[in-house]
Amino acid sequence: MKIRTRFAPSPTGYMHIGNLRTALFCYFIAKQNDGDFILRIEDTDQQREVDGAIDLIYQVLEETGLHYDEGPLKDGGNGPYIQSKRLDIYKEYAKKLIALGGAHYCFCQEDFEDHDPCLQLSYEEIQQKIKDGVPYVIRQTIPDTGITCFDDQVYGHIEVENQTLNEGILIKSDGYPTYNFANVIDDHLMHITHVVRGNEYLSSTPKYNLIYQAFGWDIPTYIHCPPVMKDETHKLSKRHGDASYQDLKDQGFLKEAILNYISLLGWAPEGDEVLSLNELIKQFDIKRISKAPAIFDIDKLKWMNGVYLRNMSLQQYHELLLPYYQSLNKNIDSLELSRVLQPRIEKLSEVNETIDFIQMAYPFDISLYSHKKMKTNPENSLEALKHVKEKLACCDDFSIENLVMLFIEIAKENNLKNGRIMWPVRVALTNKQVTPGGAGDIAHILGKEETLKRIDTAILDLTKALQETSY
Ligand code: GLU
Repeated sequence: MKIRTRFAPSPTGYMHIGNLRTALFCYFIAKQNDGDFILRIEDTDQQREVDGAIDLIYQVLEETGLHYDEGPLKDGGNGPYIQSKRLDIYKEYAKKLIALGGAHYCFCQEDFEDHDPCLQLSYEEIQQKIKDGVPYVIRQTIPDTGITCFDDQVYGHIEVENQTLNEGILIKSDGYPTYNFANVIDDHLMHITHVVRGNEYLSSTPKYNLIYQAFGWDIPTYIHCPPVMKDETHKLSKRHGDASYQDLKDQGFLKEAILNYISLLGWAPEGDEVLSLNELIKQFDIKRISKAPAIFDIDKLKWMNGVYLRNMSLQQYHELLLPYYQSLNKNIDSLELSRVLQPRIEKLSEVNETIDFIQMAYPFDISLYSHKKMKTNPENSLEALKHVKEKLACCDDFSIENLVMLFIEIAKENNLKNGRIMWPVRVALTNKQVTPGGAGDIAHILGKEETLKRIDTAILDLTKALQETSY
């Protein structure tokens, strides 16, 4: 039998992390078995629907490469794939279920305890009420006795006494189905073999099984996934504005790193955790899905993103960074800048802040020249910069290697440790405590003219500041 999974998001306006995790697991299971991955839009809760949300779902699946084999824009003969276009189907099956004794009309305007009093109505009474236009819902009829059991691939054997299950609504008074009904009808009619979803549906699954049984349909394989938590006690939830796929992209994470990291929420590979989509398809194993809640650890994602950035070729990395360089209207060696940044940046959103000194040095800050370990202070920094200025003025080879050699030479000539020269140069060129790369890298990136200009400015600033303090 061909394996068929479905991703069934509700169009609520963002691709939440938990949703994307479900999509990934569905995709892995289908693809590792040469099966089909189906997209179904669950839009029966019209109040929650957000304009443009369906397009966002298409867009994220397209961008992430999770291409579906069947779905709204790719008919595979089992559609429509948008639930609001299937209302007649649900009505037809609800009627069939009533005839089979698995559901009943309910005209109650108020809640009831225990059993639905409408179960006592005769066939004629029901017909009369419908004729009279009394509003109704269709409720599931639950047997009084017996137990319903099933085996979940993650949570194991589950057994529930039927009398503990409630007679939930299957079709609402406006004719729309609830999830509790639509998921069963659709999964059956769409020939879904493996149902992957969040474990919040685990406790209702026995009710779904009663519907399958009433129709005499095969029950799919269930894979309920653990929740994704913000911390030990709080669920990551879209209602609380927690991260969506788009948020993570906007924060500067790479698509590949996001997908890789989200795949590890509640699942662990046997070996290395850094895996491409194809490797994930190969390695994914339902047996290794955990029951325990997964904690969304942004620091781990950051680390993983850094790994992806560092593993790129310099050319690829450079192309990724080019848009960030657009605001720099300086004539700089941007490829070299990329080379300097590559080992140092974990998130693309750090780029602007890291390179901001290129456009303009930060304001002069005398305290930066005092560095205990480097044994520098404003006075000896001024001396160092004067030596450097002299040497650089007649240096035409501004390659990093040559610049570094030159700084070392100056240190040697003056019987100083290298840091006594390099630290003041780095501060003079940036006025920043932390910079990408050392004095040689930065002088090279800025080029001769700019480097000399900034050293001159630093000499002037230091001289002035020292004069003021000596009065
Ligand atoms: N529409 C449901 C949701 O977005 C999906 C549940 C399922 O996968 O069956 O939570």
